Amino acid sequence: MKIIFATGNEGKMREIRAILGDVEAEIYSMKEAGIVLEIEENGTTFEENACIKARAVSEALAAQGKARDCVVMADDSGLEIDCLNGEPGVYSARYLGEETPFDEKSADLLKRLKDVPQEERGARFVCAIAAVFPGGEEAVARGTIEGRIGHELRGDNGFGYDPIFYLPEYGRTAAELTDDEKNRISHRSRALERMKEKLLQFSRENM
Ligand code: IMP
Repeated sequence: MKIIFATGNEGKMREIRAILGDVEAEIYSMKEAGIVLEIEENGTTFEENACIKARAVSEALAAQGKARDCVVMADDSGLEIDCLNGEPGVYSARYLGEETPFDEKSADLLKRLKDVPQEERGARFVCAIAAVFPGGEEAVARGTIEGRIGHELRGDNGFGYDPIFYLPEYGRTAAELTDDEKNRISHRSRALERMKEKLLQFSRENM
């Protein structure tokens, strides 16, 4: 079995290879599989966007006659803030424009939450992973990590909104965790673990 993951992000590929390491499969990024594709993420949920990406790559592989034995996977993730009705949500990467630095996006969110008390600052990172199996069947898995929005940017690790995402049980922001600590509890690793169950079930039933 081959797994093609629809991402160009090397960090994601490392995490995927580590978590799926014990699945009997060769794992490739989209680029390694020879697929170059601009995909419009016009879904309204993380699940929809992940499915749109996985389907697009699966169709591109089929058009090149390379779809046999391939499971195509894709993810979509973002930050949901409760008191902003789930914003920035599926627009996390595009919030204030794709090119705006994350420190600016984060500072803007802190400003919007300026007068919001601690107990109403709840937030979560969400990740949905979709898979398209060789016969066209689809599966989706979701992982989340709960936290709250801090009052300032803290920490230099991680990426994106990590410096404002405070994890009460760690007493630190996600940007103050080491990569290992974060990978162990992240929304992406939780979604991947769930997807791994579905993959193992598929390979037991079909391989
Ligand atoms: P995508 O899933 O790669 O399309 O992008 C999701 C966007 O959500 C990223 O650009 C970040 O803004 C945000 N995001 C997702 N996961 C994390 C995380 O673990 N830390 C910080 N920001 C994240």
